[in-house]
Amino acid sequence: MNSFLKFAATVIVVVALSAFSASIWGGKPEKLPDNFSLKITEQMTVQQFIDANNMERQFAKGFLGLADKNDLQKNISEFGSVQQLQSKYKKSLALKTEHETKNWFKIPLKFALWSIFLGVSFFLLSRGKIKSANRKWLYGLSFLIFGIIMGADPSPMGTVKDAVYLYGKAGAIFPPRMIALSVFLLTVLIANKFICSWGCQFGTLQDFIFRLGSNKNDTKPSAVQQYKMPFVVSNTFRALIFGLMFFSAFMFAYDLFEIIDPFKIFKPMVLGIAGGTFIAVMLILSIFTYRPWCLLFCPFGFVGWLVEKLSIFKIRVNYDTCIACQKCSLSCPSTVMDAILKQDKKTVPDCFSCGVCIEVCPTKSVTFSKGRRAKVPEGKFR
Ligand code: SF4
Ligand code: SF4
Repeated sequence: MNSFLKFAATVIVVVALSAFSASIWGGKPEKLPDNFSLKITEQMTVQQFIDANNMERQFAKGFLGLADKNDLQKNISEFGSVQQLQSKYKKSLALKTEHETKNWFKIPLKFALWSIFLGVSFFLLSRGKIKSANRKWLYGLSFLIFGIIMGADPSPMGTVKDAVYLYGKAGAIFPPRMIALSVFLLTVLIANKFICSWGCQFGTLQDFIFRLGSNKNDTKPSAVQQYKMPFVVSNTFRALIFGLMFFSAFMFAYDLFEIIDPFKIFKPMVLGIAGGTFIAVMLILSIFTYRPWCLLFCPFGFVGWLVEKLSIFKIRVNYDTCIACQKCSLSCPSTVMDAILKQDKKTVPDCFSCGVCIEVCPTKSVTFSKGRRAKVPEGKFR
């Protein structure tokens, strides 16, 4: 089967199985209310305020901080000005909606599965055991578990964009999301973007598609020419999109990624024409260039790239044994190994810890290990 047929088969299987699995999980759509306005006058009692706004008593108790039944007869202005109450209500309603739309069984289960899967991948990579024979299957297994079976949410990119949008729209911070984001960032800090490398459902799907046309060494054969995007271009574009995400959330209470969110491939029934087209473009591009969504658009990709500078485990080169053949940088799916190897660029691009550079090095000089990178000896690559 040529790579385009394999591509079509992959996409059809992902969409069909995801639709089936999402229908089993069910759940409410994760959408904040459009309208946060309150019916309120300063003369109202608390009880009148609750009735006028059709509010659940328990919810009103929480957001107004009512102590007992007697508070119901107090004047609403005793609990804050109209403006203060409006803002408190917005936050409380947004947080309540967030809480109600989450599947509190699935989320901890998904994190437990992530920790097992990432643990195994880390073990294999640090021992140089992720190779052409198993790499594609690990990616396949990753998006099968974390995308098709466990669904689009949560995802690393969702934690960033939803946190920004929620704060921009309602001024609220949802603590469970911040915990999830911290856990994801911790994996980046420990082992170089590991959640992106081996756990992110859309990231691993792109990586799988990229490798459909690769040869037995898991590098690109001439039949499907690979285009390595110049990092300065892709990262400048990604930084602009990152800024635009804040601008649209804070200025217009608008979620920039709502329509084009590619993770919706794992809940295809909510996909519109624009979203479906965007995903198709990203996946077709993935045949020719490495992880286009991650390198051009993803807000977690951008944050992760900043944090990975501090990663404990990363790709390192032992220059005592390196023979400067550059097989590692030529086989790397992006421009990162060239920057790591030669250290001649100001910025090092994202490394997705795929392990190809480790596998192709004839002298075993490339490792995924702990510590600072050694300095390249003067004149090594002249
Ligand atoms: S950068 Fe790629 S792998 Fe990482 S969260 Fe974004 S989509 Fe997933
Ligand atoms: S440097 Fe390139 S080849 Fe090596 S692990 Fe990172 S992305 Fe893969």
